[in-house]
Amino acid sequence: METLGSGPLSHSGSALAAFSLAYLSHVCSARLEAMTGLPFFDERAVERVLCVAAHPDDLEYGASAAVARWRARGIDVSYLLLTAGEAGMRSRPPHEVAPLRAGEQRAACREVGVDDLVILDFPDGTLEAGLPVREAIAGAIRRTRPQVVLTQPWDLDVSWGLNHADHRAAGIATVDAIRDADNPWVFPGLREQGLEAWGTRWLLVAGAEPDHLIDVSGEPLEQAVRSLQAHREYLAEIGGDFDPRAMLEEVTAAAAARAAPAARGSVTHALGVKAYRMG
Ligand SMILES: [Zn+2]
Repeated sequence: METLGSGPLSHSGSALAAFSLAYLSHVCSARLEAMTGLPFFDERAVERVLCVAAHPDDLEYGASAAVARWRARGIDVSYLLLTAGEAGMRSRPPHEVAPLRAGEQRAACREVGVDDLVILDFPDGTLEAGLPVREAIAGAIRRTRPQVVLTQPWDLDVSWGLNHADHRAAGIATVDAIRDADNPWVFPGLREQGLEAWGTRWLLVAGAEPDHLIDVSGEPLEQAVRSLQAHREYLAEIGGDFDPRAMLEEVTAAAAARAAPAARGSVTHALGVKAYRMG
């Protein structure tokens, strides 16, 4: 749990407040460094995607726009949330918050067409990228057999400030778990459950300095706005004047402006991702 100033902001609330800074950072970097000409991620061979994040709501700050696009193209998408986000609302105890946030996450998933949602019970606020988390992610990878795994940045110093410990842990554990999932001799208990080794082709990191874009113009962006708005009580708890639509429109418009002019075409909004070839 972190606080920002004296307000009732949870750790994710701090992240929310920081998103406006992230936007400014994106805009500034686009202007100062002219980091344009980014290519679009080639998703033609992608049939299945697994999204891994620390908390309910983490995937709704941009990633869910890409998810909506993928679902509209018939790509299966699964969500694995490592914690229930039970420590995310300062005024309510964890035993009330966990089911509340699970309900809001299910509503968010419905907005973008995701029905495979798994929420694990690793501790919110003290998530560690240790072997139990790696094994859980590796198990999810072997179960869903994705070509793409999407996760959040593991860096401490990110564009919107200092990254949250749980997000860092989720990101780095996901990197390691992709390799674990591909090694038949790691986590033998998974094979005993019938989960055979699986090689993931791409790791996408949403929120890192991007080197690829995903077109989310139009309906995918609208669905993403609704998916973030679905975290209704959570957003009310953290308060402030946070506007999900304004944030998502601004960040994705700034990303779209970084596309190569010839490729931009009708792309008005895009999600920026860092793409790693894993196998
Ligand atoms: Zn979070």
